[in-house]
Amino acid sequence: MLFGRKNRKPITIPSKNVKEWKYTTCNYCSTGCAIEIGLNEDKRIVTTRGHAGADVNRGKLCIKGLLEHELFESPGRGTEPLIRDKHYDKFEETTWDNALDTTAKKIKEIQDKYGKDAFAVVSTGQLLTEEFYTLGKLTRGCIGTNNYDGNTTLCMASAVSGYKRSFGSDGPPGCYDDFEHTHCFMAFGSNLPEQHPVIYWRLKEALEKRKFPLIVVDPRVTMLAQFADIHLPITPGTDCVLINSMMYVIINEGLQDQEYIDAHTDGYEAVKALVQDYAPEVAQHQCGIDEDRIRSVARLYAKAPAAMSIWTMGINQSTHGSDGVANINNLNLITGNIGKPGGTSLSITGQCNAMGTREWSSCSGLPGYRLLENPEHRQEIADFWGIDPEFFPKKRGLAQTDIFPAIETGDVKGMWIIATNPMTSMANTPRIRKMLESLDFLVIQDVYSDVETNQYSHVYFPASVWAEKKGCHTNTERRVSLIDNVLPPYANSKPDFWIFNQMAKRFENGQKIKFPETPEGAFEEMKKLSKGTNAYGNERTLDISGMSYEKIIKARGIQWPYSEEQDKASGSLKGSPRLYTDGKFQTPTGKANLICVDFYDNNEKPCKDYPFWLNSGRVVEHFHTRTRTGKIGNCNKFSPTPYMEMNPDAARELGIEHQSYVRLTSRRGDAVVLVQLTQRVARDMVFIPFHFHDCVNRLTVGLLDPYSRQPAFKQCSARIEKVDQAEAARLNAERRTY
Ligand code: SF4
Repeated sequence: MLFGRKNRKPITIPSKNVKEWKYTTCNYCSTGCAIEIGLNEDKRIVTTRGHAGADVNRGKLCIKGLLEHELFESPGRGTEPLIRDKHYDKFEETTWDNALDTTAKKIKEIQDKYGKDAFAVVSTGQLLTEEFYTLGKLTRGCIGTNNYDGNTTLCMASAVSGYKRSFGSDGPPGCYDDFEHTHCFMAFGSNLPEQHPVIYWRLKEALEKRKFPLIVVDPRVTMLAQFADIHLPITPGTDCVLINSMMYVIINEGLQDQEYIDAHTDGYEAVKALVQDYAPEVAQHQCGIDEDRIRSVARLYAKAPAAMSIWTMGINQSTHGSDGVANINNLNLITGNIGKPGGTSLSITGQCNAMGTREWSSCSGLPGYRLLENPEHRQEIADFWGIDPEFFPKKRGLAQTDIFPAIETGDVKGMWIIATNPMTSMANTPRIRKMLESLDFLVIQDVYSDVETNQYSHVYFPASVWAEKKGCHTNTERRVSLIDNVLPPYANSKPDFWIFNQMAKRFENGQKIKFPETPEGAFEEMKKLSKGTNAYGNERTLDISGMSYEKIIKARGIQWPYSEEQDKASGSLKGSPRLYTDGKFQTPTGKANLICVDFYDNNEKPCKDYPFWLNSGRVVEHFHTRTRTGKIGNCNKFSPTPYMEMNPDAARELGIEHQSYVRLTSRRGDAVVLVQLTQRVARDMVFIPFHFHDCVNRLTVGLLDPYSRQPAFKQCSARIEKVDQAEAARLNAERRTY
């Protein structure tokens, strides 16, 4: 023996003395991981682990999920309702009755003086589905404003809009299990390992069992791009050009699935004609991908027995977001890749329950994918709730990104913001600050009283954190999972469900409409509304009538549609992994729409004064605006400060060093960031994580997609300047307190 390494210390796992594990579902991203929270003998929360029996995550969690138990008692939690006369006065604690009475009175005053729509409600993708349904009932049925929307407009609105335009309805048609069946996987603007680590793990596991090509379209060499077989570093905002050019190759080489196109789509001839303008030798000059590469990727995709596309914010957050989604759907329709194992168009949703709000909140319509524009839908819901259908507006009101500018024009005077933080999340935050300051009345409902937007409120409602409540989430693959209340609400915070029910009592229609006392009661109402047929006589896809809380827990999540008939027939609790398996879509003809997507170039591009593309995105340690992860020591430890990825060649030209501070300026504002030199970004591009307050969204542009009204967070231009390092370090330290 040369060296003595035989006498090792045994491996020990530090005991947290867990006496009881409680099942719930993660409340960060849309992956939908099932988790268990460990409580010790004193009923104190001590740890979290992944649930091994849940199909979604099979025991895995990412760093955010692993530390989620620390949220219950994290600093800044709201303990009592707060009130003040002016937003610059000091808050006083008050009772729930006074906070609710004052808010109801202010809403009515504003509506009496300026009209119903002068009071806006802006919600989130973070609540539980029963809470969304109840908020919709309150807003549509009692308050009666049509300026009601959610922060999902910043996130998934383009996916919703693209799905509706192509398939006649929202609802991602695929599932994670498609990774196991696909023969070609293409990701557009999606950095799975950082955004949705457990979905990435599912993909990686499938790839380890059976190799298939991984193609990544992204201007940046993201973590996913580093693992790709083919990386297409596309010019920002030109995905439509690339897809049109791929379709040019597929159609002109006869690689399309003509049988599927003839049987299940409308509009093929028009799309075929349009893409003739996108020959690869032409398109390469717009999208930055050389013609050979376009041809080989198109052939690879079309010849695969099953091919699938996923996408996230790289597609959605653009002035071409809805078109980008419709064009991804076009690509999959002409290759016959919808509704079959391994062949799908799967938008990877952002927030944990963005799907729940899309399905049941009534934000853009009425519950269960019903439309305000459809008189039968208005009548049906009015009858179900017991109110006059004339109370409903006859078309959708403003989206979130239009509600804020309506403050500037004086059309919106008061607002209720629920579990979202526009002072950090909206583009062009200097403009948002002025809007919020000018409101006559602002009420903030949030788990945290120190959320930045609360600086401008008159009333604050302290809400309970996710597992202090009970209800459901729907994840990216339409799986409905249960969140069980692990602990009672903290201090005098209240579940959002309770707050909405109490507010309803203060409105005239709140006396007529029945508001169930429990989330399970609301779920039973949703089940009833989910049955039946849509406007064109097709069976509703969003059918949850076969589910119950008990069954959801037993199955660790059920994918809709899961109707009473399915439940009676099999009772397997499997649900439906895929939509449109029979090639029937939710359109008047039952066929999917192939949509002509011509490219128009309205991106804010680099120029002499602002020579860099500015791109933004996520880091794995943080979620959204860090209202939660910013409070968790271990998340902050790994990602403590805003930084900017910059190419070393560009830095050399400007005399900028690694880990120095710089000032970044756009046409909207400026931000000071720490430089990280890396080849991940091209010479004319920089990247900044979007999570930090007073940072990247001081710079981003508020240009909106014409269909979805989603902002173009991913494409704007900026210049870089040197700054005084000591002053920048002081500013950075100040910013890190957020
Ligand atoms: S991947 Fe998403 S759902 Fe899963 S633990 Fe992480 S944040 Fe939670």
